Amino acid sequence: MSRAHRLVAVSNRVGPVKGAAAAGGLAVALVDALRERGGLWFGWSGRTAPPGKARLRTEKVDGMTLATLDLTQQELDGFYNGFCNNCLWPLLHFRIDLTKFERRQLETYRRVNWRFAQALAKLLRPDDVVWVHDFQLIPLAEELRKRRLRQRIGFFLHTPFPPTEILGTLPPHEELMRALFAYDLIGFQTTDDVRRFQEHVRHAYGGSARGDTVSAFGRELKVGAFPIGIDVDQFHRYAFTVPGNREFSRMRQVLRGRDQFIGVDRLDYSKGLLRRMDAFGRYLEKHPKAHGNVILLQVAPVSRGSLESYRDFRLELDREAARVNGRFARFDWTPVHYLNRALPRRTLAGLYRASRVGVVTPMRDGMNLVAKEYVAAQDPADPGVLVLSRFAGAAQRMKAALLVNPYDGEEIAEAMHRAMEMRPQERRSRHEELMKGLNEYDVGRWRVEFVAALMKAPAWRPVARKPR
Ligand code: ADP
Repeated sequence: MSRAHRLVAVSNRVGPVKGAAAAGGLAVALVDALRERGGLWFGWSGRTAPPGKARLRTEKVDGMTLATLDLTQQELDGFYNGFCNNCLWPLLHFRIDLTKFERRQLETYRRVNWRFAQALAKLLRPDDVVWVHDFQLIPLAEELRKRRLRQRIGFFLHTPFPPTEILGTLPPHEELMRALFAYDLIGFQTTDDVRRFQEHVRHAYGGSARGDTVSAFGRELKVGAFPIGIDVDQFHRYAFTVPGNREFSRMRQVLRGRDQFIGVDRLDYSKGLLRRMDAFGRYLEKHPKAHGNVILLQVAPVSRGSLESYRDFRLELDREAARVNGRFARFDWTPVHYLNRALPRRTLAGLYRASRVGVVTPMRDGMNLVAKEYVAAQDPADPGVLVLSRFAGAAQRMKAALLVNPYDGEEIAEAMHRAMEMRPQERRSRHEELMKGLNEYDVGRWRVEFVAALMKAPAWRPVARKPR
């Protein structure tokens, strides 16, 4: 990408810029890329405003421009809480049973994307390269194209892409897929997601897929797998310098020689927390020697707490944690430590480092960065063991973890036991291999490769009309 091109990132939430390192993942990657090129970051302000008062604000921060738009409460309900989190999120994670489709919410989803496009179009320059993030903004490019914008526009899906049988249950699936064909490049987390996308396009719309080119609806676009990574060195530093180091020492003191399993997840039904809790109970049941010697620290901040499916799930998890504690706790030992709070990333790094086993068992996950953070925070001379779900995108390149089927509580319990028994040499060699993978595909490579592929994609052309 030459300097002549400005990078424009669009995501549902913008920032933070100053504290990007603290927010992690996407924020870090985007801020680095945008700072390099004096870029623009556009999205929702995180605020609501009365109708007619929802404003677009722009500000310069650290050599880049932030442009944010307010939503009305009604838009927030129908768009974000409604169609995005109550319909698309469960569907994309293969949970048709939790997917609630409402036409009115789809209407609001369309309208918010229309408003985003209307505001963004005014800010775009002819040579801009636009990178749109995630399922909240699928129709954005189509809306921009309607305004005759011909810039290169790429889309990255952070979630999994579901099989055609599941996607086909979504009433407006064709509308959304057609909208995707207004992009020039679509990036997925894994090659499995790319394959499912290609199969869906062939099967549902009679499209075709050859190599990295997919055609349907009279248009052609490029697809690719761009697995998102973390800033490995930074996370390792967090774990080994103040305050991560201090939290590590405090945790060790609290543990008093006990071994810790750690889970860190947003409180989301896709993360497999219930089965994990149950599996820990099974592990304790089978291994009385572990009683008094092992704890599970589960850090799970409340997420999307206004939605019923999330509230129900939280109650179930509270019960499950209480059940395991009620059954196994002794007056001097509580097996499950359960926190509904977000912690600073530096603190998390110290806690990962103090834990013998990282338990990452989502039922389905686009990538899962916690798995990578846990590995990066380990001491290479005496590393802990990662137990990882086969159904996290991260599993595709983390074969040296103990891979489990998250639907099988017995298998998770066995992996917990195996992790505890693993000899130092095997722990070291697995960790070394995992680190190699993390370093090879870190967050910097993710963004550089995506932007390079977008620049290489053929320039946009309108759908050719057939002569009458
Ligand atoms: P998702 O994006 O679905 O939440 P990921 O595992 O890909 O799942 O990313 C989660 C990110 O949020 C990680 O960077 C992780 O460190 C962070 N995170 C998760 N739980 C907490 C917590 N309790 N406190 C602080 N950060 C957290």
